[in-house]
Amino acid sequence: MLDAVVVGAGPNGLTAAVELARRGFTVALFEARGTVGGGARTEELTLPGFRHDPCAAAHPLAVSSPAFRALPLDRYGLQWLHPELPMAHPFPDGTAAVLARSVAETAASFGPRDAGAYRRLVEPFLPRWDTLVRDFMSLPLTALPRDPVTLARFGLTGLPPSTWLMRRFTGERARTLFAGLVAHVMAPLGGFATGAVGLVFALAAHARGWPLARGGSQSLSDALAAYLKDLGGAVHTDFEVKRLDDLPPARAYVFDTSPTALARIAGLGRHYDGYRYGPGVFKIDYALDGPVPWTAEAPRRAGTVQIGADSHEIGAALRAASREGRAPDRPFLITVQPSVVDPTRAPEGKHVFWVYGHVPHGWDGDLTEAIERQLERYAPGFRDRVLARATAGPAQLAARNANYVGGDIATGAVSGLQALLRPRLSLFPYRTPHPAVFLCSSATPPGPGVHGMSGHNAAKAVWRRLRRT
Ligand SMILES: Cc1cc2nc3c(=O)[nH]c(=O)nc-3n(C[C@H](O)[C@H](O)[C@H](O)COP(=O)(O)OP(=O)(O)OC[C@H]3O[C@@H](n4cnc5c(N)ncnc54)[C@H](O)[C@@H]3O)c2cc1C
Repeated sequence: MLDAVVVGAGPNGLTAAVELARRGFTVALFEARGTVGGGARTEELTLPGFRHDPCAAAHPLAVSSPAFRALPLDRYGLQWLHPELPMAHPFPDGTAAVLARSVAETAASFGPRDAGAYRRLVEPFLPRWDTLVRDFMSLPLTALPRDPVTLARFGLTGLPPSTWLMRRFTGERARTLFAGLVAHVMAPLGGFATGAVGLVFALAAHARGWPLARGGSQSLSDALAAYLKDLGGAVHTDFEVKRLDDLPPARAYVFDTSPTALARIAGLGRHYDGYRYGPGVFKIDYALDGPVPWTAEAPRRAGTVQIGADSHEIGAALRAASREGRAPDRPFLITVQPSVVDPTRAPEGKHVFWVYGHVPHGWDGDLTEAIERQLERYAPGFRDRVLARATAGPAQLAARNANYVGGDIATGAVSGLQALLRPRLSLFPYRTPHPAVFLCSSATPPGPGVHGMSGHNAAKAVWRRLRRT
């Protein structure tokens, strides 16, 4: 009998398996797809030699993750590449605000009126970032906070809606960049705890950067899988788990799946019926003949570029996709340009380019035209550089990965109390009504993103149980 079986080889499933194997437990992992990675993979989606990340590409959360930082992933080939600028946000007038490694450079890009307000917002937390990130990514109750005072202060600043926090800024440049940061988790700007979302991304940029993995996000997943095998763990791919009986006997089963899929597979009845899924995304991966011809200078040096004219346009795009059930006319876009920093991703002189916009849950239209119209506003001539494009709407995303229900890449709405307390109101979110079955996906705290901390926290619940029994 195995100690633990893990279902799903996304960042959280892989991390849970590694954490258990490191502690001497016997572990086997089962993944539906032909390769490991889940939302952290790399594929030649367009033309030969163009290596795209169909899902995650920028890694502010991975590089700051206490779980990943404790693992020897560099020995297994993981190398972080830092673009000159973590992120840039161009405006229609041809200028740009930036999220730089330096607080001073970032503040200066907002203009004199908001520079001080920005410094006062981030500087108190920065020296304590590593402790803060561990404390809030371990909520609720998986570890006692190491610095409860800073965590409480962070909560007071971040738990209110981001619209409150943005009132600190008098100008639109800082507000727009901050609204864009909040929109990374597809939460309406006025939602509970959305201030914390923007703050986390800003602090992460200053503290540890927003790097990309050399060779693509697959190298992070491959490093985790290689380490797992060295620790004696077994990895089975092309194995979709439909029932608990499909799996070998084990003392614990850990699911990197959506809560509803888990309920179906493990026979948990209506336990997760109240769980809500959020809006979807429409993703395009481009092979380009050259770099994106941004009008502003800063985006040419940035790993990530946010596209949204002002905080109103961004708010309207989020409302359209999450509340009004229609695709936005001017979608807010997150774009990543890996080949700015990583020459291994495309043939010489060519580039890969990554972009998505938000659409309603399960939307079946084509956002390509609206996305390219937005890009042409900030990079005229963009379309002329396109060699090939691979598009994926909600249905394709869900077909590739069952966790992205209706195209929801966060595996559950990040709104209301569910933003923090997921998948149910519980102090023990990783446990289920079945004593041997656990949930470790991004449907559990701390939520979406490539950080492995849901896997780490769930593994802790598992090893505590295994040691007790
Ligand atoms: C388009 C897109 C862009 C993104 N951009 C970023 C970004 O830039 N930065 C960032 O940090 N995050 C980003 N994310 C989010 C990030 O990818 C996810 O939050 C993260 O991958 C969640 O990890 P996970 O391990 O919980 O689940 P997943 O990564 O979704 O992995 C789940 C795995 O379980 C497998 N599985 C599911 N059901 C079964 C079953 N029944 N049997 C066997 N296997 C099963 C799936 O095939 C999959 O491999 C993005 C996601 C998408 C889709």
